[in-house]
Amino acid sequence: MENPRININLTQIRENAERVFENCRNNNISLTGVVKVGAGDIKLAQSFINGGIKSLGDSRLDNIRNLRRSGYQGETVLLRLPQLAEVTEVINYADLSLVSEVVTVKALSEAAVKVCKRHGIIVMIDVGDLREGILPDQIKDFFREIVNLPMLDIRGIGTNVGCYAGVLPTISNTEILVELAEELRDYYSLELPLISGGNTATTRLLSDNTLPEGINHLRIGEAILQGTDITNQRIIKDLQQNNFTMTASIIELKDKPSAPTGEVGYDAFGNIPVYEDRGVRKRAILAVGRQDVKLDGLIPVDEGIKVLGASSDHLLVDVTDKKGCLSTGDELEFYLDYGAILRLMTSPYVYKNYIMF
Ligand SMILES: *Cc1c(COP(=O)(O)O)cnc(C)c1O
Repeated sequence: MENPRININLTQIRENAERVFENCRNNNISLTGVVKVGAGDIKLAQSFINGGIKSLGDSRLDNIRNLRRSGYQGETVLLRLPQLAEVTEVINYADLSLVSEVVTVKALSEAAVKVCKRHGIIVMIDVGDLREGILPDQIKDFFREIVNLPMLDIRGIGTNVGCYAGVLPTISNTEILVELAEELRDYYSLELPLISGGNTATTRLLSDNTLPEGINHLRIGEAILQGTDITNQRIIKDLQQNNFTMTASIIELKDKPSAPTGEVGYDAFGNIPVYEDRGVRKRAILAVGRQDVKLDGLIPVDEGIKVLGASSDHLLVDVTDKKGCLSTGDELEFYLDYGAILRLMTSPYVYKNYIMF
């Protein structure tokens, strides 16, 4: 089979999607499945759909356009704030977008009027993670500017934590959203049907039965894809892990000293490398590199293998302690973290091996 490749277990991802969808439904929460790590991969999105998910979210409009062109007719949610220059396409391809700027909301409204197509928005509130969103004390002014814009449905408010500053979702910072929604509903006589509580990290509150009453929408990627919740350092029981692995092939296998010979300068990425001298070791070079994968997101499947480093196109591993014998041409397999999956799915040099059973 082709190398390097990312092995994508679509069956397990579909099963995770089913379980997350059921769990949300049992708690009266609507779910947007987040597929952005797939970089527009239609089969991956299809496994979410096969799991029962009826709304798909992505950060990039290119990927949402791909989904539409593949024939997907369900709901699409643009997760990253729209760029002003793309509002016409946002109206065209997305049903719903997350917003935090009045000027963008006005532009969306104008674009929607032009093509006579209604568009939904979820207004993002920053409850502390310092990525997108309006600060809570500015929310009334924000709404004053947007409540009467034509062709726009203000579907609700939302928040995102655990992404930039690593702020954890808590009862209190999630509750802010419910309280603000109440105030806005009263003050502006709005329905605001959706309160979008967060991403995978917020499912911890759901598991603990502490998700504030009123939160009725979640946007979930990682839990479905990986069965994990890294922000809270959780492996989610009932879900399946290691649904993605990477396989790469050995192009050189030699015994070499573990410390380099010669004067050491900076490596290709501007860092000064540090080496531990462990004597002569068996080293393998794999035909994959930083252009395709995030180094610290690789966990060797076999015991006795240690990732040493990488350049753009070469991955170096110490295989001295691996049982059995290896030869040039053999393949090694690695479990992946979210960042490694993201890079592999995005690299045009990586073959996608879909697993279905
Ligand atoms: C990526 C993203 C999500 C999904 O996050 P996961 O941690 O993968 O569940 C949800 N909301 C927004 C705004 C996002 O950008």
